[in-house]
Amino acid sequence: MENTHFCQSCGMPLTTEEAKGTENNGLKNNDYCKYCYEDSQFKNPQMNLEEMEKAVKAHMEKK
Ligand SMILES: [Zn+2]
Repeated sequence: MENTHFCQSCGMPLTTEEAKGTENNGLKNNDYCKYCYEDSQFKNPQMNLEEMEKAVKAHMEKK
């Protein structure tokens, strides 16, 4: 298990080549899974960023 990578976005273990994200040149990406990263593009980076900002703001406003 020494070579196990995890998706930097969702934390899914990339235990198989098929689980890894793909570049548009056909190579695999060891940092992200195919659900987050495909053809050298993140599937929904804006949604993730916005949701994170909203969550942070909501948290701050409560305090
Ligand atoms: Zn992922």
